[in-house]
Amino acid sequence: YQKLNRKKDGNAKLARAEEMVAELERTCASPLERLRQLADAMEVEMHAGLALEGGSRLKMLLTYVDSLPTGDEEGLFYALDLGGTNFRVLRVQLGGRENRIVNKDAKEISIPPHIMVGSSGELFGFIASELAKFVATEGDKFQVFDGRQRELGFTFSFPVRQSSIASGTLIKWTKGFSIEDAVGADVVAELTAAMDKQGLDMRVAALINDTVGTLAGGRYYDEDVTVAVILGTGTNAAYVERASNIPKWHGLLPKSGEMVINMEWGNFKSSHLPITEFDRALDEESLNPGEQIYEKLISGMYLGDIVRRVLLKMAEEAELFGDTVPSKLRAPFILRSHDISSMHHDISPDLEVVAAKLKENIGVIDSTFETRKMVVQVCDIITRRAAQLAAAGIAGVLKKLGMDPSSKNNHKRVVAIDGALFEHNRVFRNCLERSLSQVLGEEIPFEVTHANDGSGVGAALIAASHSQYNRIGEL
Ligand code: BGC
Ligand code: MG
Repeated sequence: YQKLNRKKDGNAKLARAEEMVAELERTCASPLERLRQLADAMEVEMHAGLALEGGSRLKMLLTYVDSLPTGDEEGLFYALDLGGTNFRVLRVQLGGRENRIVNKDAKEISIPPHIMVGSSGELFGFIASELAKFVATEGDKFQVFDGRQRELGFTFSFPVRQSSIASGTLIKWTKGFSIEDAVGADVVAELTAAMDKQGLDMRVAALINDTVGTLAGGRYYDEDVTVAVILGTGTNAAYVERASNIPKWHGLLPKSGEMVINMEWGNFKSSHLPITEFDRALDEESLNPGEQIYEKLISGMYLGDIVRRVLLKMAEEAELFGDTVPSKLRAPFILRSHDISSMHHDISPDLEVVAAKLKENIGVIDSTFETRKMVVQVCDIITRRAAQLAAAGIAGVLKKLGMDPSSKNNHKRVVAIDGALFEHNRVFRNCLERSLSQVLGEEIPFEVTHANDGSGVGAALIAASHSQYNRIGEL
């Protein structure tokens, strides 16, 4: 009789868990109609952000990049890429139109967590010292300076108010960073001072966002690239805008008549966004409550933690993992986006990968098949919502731009995308591409490409076109 009761109880729990998944599905639903509304809202906000400073939650930042790579860039340039959990230093030998990228060396360095929330001096000191090491150990194959100063493209992937191609102040931190005394500081001045301290004689030729680097890197290989999107730890987009469409800009008109705009779309917010109790809690407990709402629904830094929050509630209310709640499930960020991606892509009949991940990450020794299936469903709901929302954003940008009359490719606009979520999560990528086609219909011809490592190479390319030696040559 007791056994029977336990079974009844177990069935009730299972039913409750299934009901919770269904409820999640309802609250996350992003039908086509909603995605179209979001695309329109994105377009409206773009106009508002271009019209005047502070006109929108989208900052629509001027980048002072008024021309993109042509393919003719030549010489040896360095790049520094800071913005996720790792930073990278690169050395890129550009060989001009015929030879393109002749040589590329890169070193990836993970940023100690205390540096991400420490002081500005510590952060830039750490970066400069790693850069100095990188330069000190370079072999003979790069000794092509004949007395020239080394030049660097600095990819700094946070919102920055620029005043020229090589200066700009940090507006706010995003993702996992929080270094108070750097907010409002000129990040190029900080880096330059730190390099001087290291005795490193290097000039910052360009300061760019990773989206801008991706745009430059994409354009280097394909003339029709006019939009770039990052879907990684954070998310953002940049695109080429006509200078005459930027009312808030009162500076000199560039010769090209164009300027790249860094949208900072991570801060987008709209009543059409399907926000759940889990998203609200994540936001409230984050380093930047109220900020980067769109980013918190989409990007790799947060997806795993949304899933964790859902599973925690299911463990508490429906005994998803048995009669005790695994304590690790209470630890923020214990599940990362690559964990949920590998569970989501598990094709083994018993969902062994899911079982192993649950064990390894949250200490669930043995999970039932029913439980594993529900975990996959939760990953699926959260991942698809992210992909659909990102697609709506891209559709908004493409609608704002319309067709491209200068395209070599039948008015097609090419969107260059980079970031681990896009590159490594197949379900995410397929869902994004499908949703984008659905939202846009036949309205605007487009193509999506993966711009691998645009942000590093792009920084070197933009540094090349802003080299002090070019300018001397020009005079
Ligand atoms: C930052 C952007 C950046 C994006 C992708 C966001 O959190 O605000 O500047 O482009 O992440 O790295
Ligand atoms: Mg990358």
